[in-house]
Amino acid sequence: MERMVEIERFSEEISYEVTLRPSSWDEYIGQEKIKKNLKVFIEASRKRNEALDHILFFGPPGLGKTTIANIISNEMGANIKTTAAPMIEKAGDLAALLTNIEEGDILFIDEIHRMSPAVEEILYPAMEDFRLDIIIGSGPAAQTVKIDLPRFTLIGATTRAGMLSNPLRERFGMHFRMQFYTPEELAKIVTQASKKLEKPAQFEASSEIARRSRGTPRIALRLLKRVRDFSEVAGETEVTLQRAQYALDELGVNHLGFDEQDIQLLELLVSAKNKPMGLSTIGAALSEDEGTIEDVLEPYLIANGYIERTARGRIATQKSYEHFRLAGSQDGLFDG
Ligand code: ADP
Repeated sequence: MERMVEIERFSEEISYEVTLRPSSWDEYIGQEKIKKNLKVFIEASRKRNEALDHILFFGPPGLGKTTIANIISNEMGANIKTTAAPMIEKAGDLAALLTNIEEGDILFIDEIHRMSPAVEEILYPAMEDFRLDIIIGSGPAAQTVKIDLPRFTLIGATTRAGMLSNPLRERFGMHFRMQFYTPEELAKIVTQASKKLEKPAQFEASSEIARRSRGTPRIALRLLKRVRDFSEVAGETEVTLQRAQYALDELGVNHLGFDEQDIQLLELLVSAKNKPMGLSTIGAALSEDEGTIEDVLEPYLIANGYIERTARGRIATQKSYEHFRLAGSQDGLFDG
């Protein structure tokens, strides 16, 4: 079965996300502190008629980094160009992007921790002095050509703040860590999206989908879409709680939003009986890429106190043991 909570994004899903993507602060639910700060900075730079300072967002995938970058560009009345670091292979690729930019525009670079060192070198003077230093030729005949750039705003997004080089991190004037969403916030997001999809979800149904979405809007929307299919086929005009529960169970998402892989990870750590387990061992046991475990699987489980990261490896917390103990006495807690 397709893993419901993974990050891989299919083209169908991307077009779906674009339809549902909030375009104003009113529709952007949660992340209140970040919104409050950004509104102040945006207003100040608009008053001064200046480009906004460079901004870095970090946090797990699907929490709304791209969405917030787009709202910022709307609020600033600026154009936004979107790319991802792995797509900028050579210094020349970045130069091409930057020379096509206009005063006040926004350049959004996703996965900015994956930028190559050669490209990063070019980015420093561009961010700091709005200048491109391009080296033409090689050897003793090499020349540096300096090109002035319009003042632009770079918005960087990363799932791994720790992997960003210090000089790059320091060149961002604002740093924001995205938080997982509360079930109440996710329920609002689901309700809002269900109206846009013209298949309104009942309050209890939105809450049920929200509870099982690992604190992540992208997952909530994906689950909503599947639940809506079940409602559609049943000929219902609304998404009901019963339909939502049935569909989510069918999809293998339990009442905590854990899927099989989360459960495998927790079971693995619980069976290790307090002995810390290294990332590579976990990766081998789950046949999963270490990066995916760190970026996608772990953050939610850590934020909710199911596992802990120690210097010697990962361990299950009391909360995990407690759940498995309870699971033993009922017919499988993790079966939802
Ligand atoms: P990221 O860039 O962090 O991976 P996205 O910005 O692409 O995440 O968010 C995924 C989807 O979730 C978006 O298309 C949007 O529809 C929805 N979404 C994200 N954050 C919010 C929010 N705060 N309010 C409403 N919808 C949101």
